[in-house]
Amino acid sequence: MNPIPDAPAAAPDVSALREEILALKAARDAVILAHNYQPGPIQDLADYVGDSLAMARWAQRSPARVLVVAGVHFMAETAAILCPDKRVLIPDPEAGCSLAESITAEQVAAWKAEHPDAVVVSYVNTSAAVKALSDYCCTSSNAVAVVEAIDPEREILFLPDFYLGSHVARVTGRKNLHVWWGECHVHAAIDPETMAAKVAQHPGAELLVHPECGCTTRALALPPEGVPMQVLSTDGMIAESRRSPRTTFIVATEVGLLHRLRKENPDKTFVPAQDEAVCPFMNLITLEKIRDSLREDRYAVEVPAAIRERALIPLERMVAIGR
Ligand code: SF4
Repeated sequence: MNPIPDAPAAAPDVSALREEILALKAARDAVILAHNYQPGPIQDLADYVGDSLAMARWAQRSPARVLVVAGVHFMAETAAILCPDKRVLIPDPEAGCSLAESITAEQVAAWKAEHPDAVVVSYVNTSAAVKALSDYCCTSSNAVAVVEAIDPEREILFLPDFYLGSHVARVTGRKNLHVWWGECHVHAAIDPETMAAKVAQHPGAELLVHPECGCTTRALALPPEGVPMQVLSTDGMIAESRRSPRTTFIVATEVGLLHRLRKENPDKTFVPAQDEAVCPFMNLITLEKIRDSLREDRYAVEVPAAIRERALIPLERMVAIGR
């Protein structure tokens, strides 16, 4: 497993870097896809900003020759699987994901051997090798829709996120869904006590909770009467913040999302459920590394053909099934 990186250095002066990156992007016929958890200056520069599902769909639709993925490694692998004719670059190859590393292909194969008739549903936060052993992929945006699309009589092996799997089992009411015990160290650390304190400090706020969070179960029982609470993907939180008449929101996910929420809703207030919910892997990506990636044409992410062909099937199902 990749060691968890140290906190990033101070933010750089961005204007000269921005100009350099824009010129390189045009020269290389490149676009930048950024995840909602990326630092603000990178979101502001990117051609597309969204969750994993939106990034996958944009990767497929983009006419550009080069895709620079400002996110973590499995997101670049997903783009490489979906877009074999494009060159996919990640600015820092060490940008991994503790959740993706919580299950290996060997562990999936062994689990499948114990449940030979089960359908395997993998969260997109997995390696290409794990996807190649899966029947469906999903994101937090469409996990419920994916599970509901599967014959209710079939057993399901849901991996690797325990909290998302438990949420899906709760929402769908499925009893034949087995959940792997994996977690994202950032979301798992958003604890119920801290969130409850924020709720007490901001009466009337709406609670937006990501289903990967360790506080999800408690959050469902927590809201005092009249306080709305929603379990949503990051893009779902963006949509809810626009739609809701509330003016204050407590947001339980990685804090990078607050940049976009505040930018799109300048008249509303967004409070992190936990100030320290910072993904060190996401923050390995910097403007300098994006510049170097474009300038040096590095670091290319490629998936071996045999794995790519098999992993494409569950990924195409994921992209096709609703949000
Ligand atoms: S926030 Fe968690 S799930 Fe998302 S990339 Fe970081 S470690 Fe992985």
